[in-house]
Amino acid sequence: MIKRQIVIVGGGFSGTALAIQLLRQNDDQVAITLIEPRDDLGEGVAYSTQDPAHRIN
Ligand SMILES: Cc1cc2nc3c(=O)[nH]c(=O)nc-3n(C[C@H](O)[C@H](O)[C@H](O)COP(=O)(O)OP(=O)(O)OC[C@H]3O[C@@H](n4cnc5c(N)ncnc54)[C@H](O)[C@@H]3O)c2cc1C
Repeated sequence: MIKRQIVIVGGGFSGTALAIQLLRQNDDQVAITLIEPRDDLGEGVAYSTQDPAHRIN
């Protein structure tokens, strides 16, 4: 069977959360590629801030 290829562009909060939800479905016919230039996934703009004043949650 042909695998479905899902490409997520941007591994910040939304892209990483989507990848996690897709992986939780445990469908071995789905291949996920997450494209993110940062070193760490999930941080994005909001959670990579170095300014403590930006940390509101
Ligand atoms: C300082 C700050 C505080 C915030 N606080 C809150 C809060 O308390 N509550 C709240 O709900 N929201 C808050 N936000 C808004 C927050 O940004 C969003 O809620 C949410 O994190 C956005 O998620 P996102 O995945 O759309 O963007 P991001 O998490 O920013 O992810 C986008 C990703 O795309 C990547 N990217 C960009 N261009 C490309 C490209 N060409 N190719 C591949 N990857 C690319 C980036 O590197 C980044 O990792 C805050 C924002 C900021 C800036």
